[in-house]
Parts: sequence; C-alpha cells; structure tokens
Amino acid sequence: MELSKLYEKALGLEDLTVEEGVFLYHHAPLAELMQVADSIRKIQVPHGKVTWQIDRNVNTTNVCIANCKFCNFFRVPGHKDAYITDMATYRKKITETLRLGGDQLLLQGGHHPELGLQFYVDTFKAIKIEFPQIKLHTLGPRKSPISVNWKA
Ligand code: SF4
Repeated sequence: MELSKLYEKALGLEDLTVEEGVFLYHHAPLAELMQVADSIRKIQVPHGKVTWQIDRNVNTTNVCIANCKFCNFFRVPGHKDAYITDMATYRKKITETLRLGGDQLLLQGGHHPELGLQFYVDTFKAIKIEFPQIKLHTLGPRKSPISVNWKA
C-alpha cells in the first residue's frame, strides 16, 4: 500500500477499507493526515463556513479503578471525596448550559466498579425526559495519552 494512493482515494471522496485505515494509522505522518483532512473539508464544505457547538463537560463519577498513572482526577471506591453526580447537579449544570446557549453535555467519568449499563441507561433517560433538547455525548471510547501513537 502507498500513502499517496490512499490520500488520492480519500481526496476523491471514496471510502477507505478498514485495512487501508489501519495502514494509515500505522504509517501516515500526522501532518499529512491533517492536510488531507483539511482538503476534504474544503471539498465538502466549499463555502468555508466553520461552526462550533457549545457543550459542557460533566463528570458522571470520579470513582475509578483504572489507575492511570497520569490521572489526578479519580478517587478509589470508598474515598471521602468520591462522588456520583446526582440529578439535582445535572439539573443545575444543564440549566446553566442552556442559559449560556449550550445544547450538549459531554459526559465522562471514571470506571466505577458498581455502576453497570443500567445505571447509565437510567441516568441518560432521566436527563432526556427532563431536558429533551439537550444532546448527550456519552460513553465515547477513550485512549489514554500515554498509549496514543502520535506521528508528528
Ligand atoms: S480511566 Fe479516566 S478517570 Fe480513570 S484513572 Fe484513567 S484517566 Fe483517570
């Protein structure tokens, strides 16, 4: 596989295969990827108008057992400063966010060993029932900075 061929394919707005994407991940310099991505953006959004979204980062819990070495956010289960965000706190933060023109919550948090999927389903449902207009950006996969393979 050649990087230049993959860039050409992407610039022609053709979908790349999984194998091609993995090849780019391992071999493409970050600066080149950024340049190709910017060119594609200019093709897809020729008027050049760039927009943004106002959202608020709210942590679901600071309890975590992942123990990432760089992290000073998490607290071990049972720690005196451990918390799980309650509905009153969500309500206050969402109301403030909406008042300032925001429309999304980025919900992140620690790996709490006692909170299963149902907890998150119930939490997100409760928020959406009360604030149907708020978008929830949640449960995104994350990579710790120490494992990201930066190319630049
Ligand atoms: S998973 Fe997140 S919250 Fe948990 S220790 Fe790592 S960075 Fe901190």
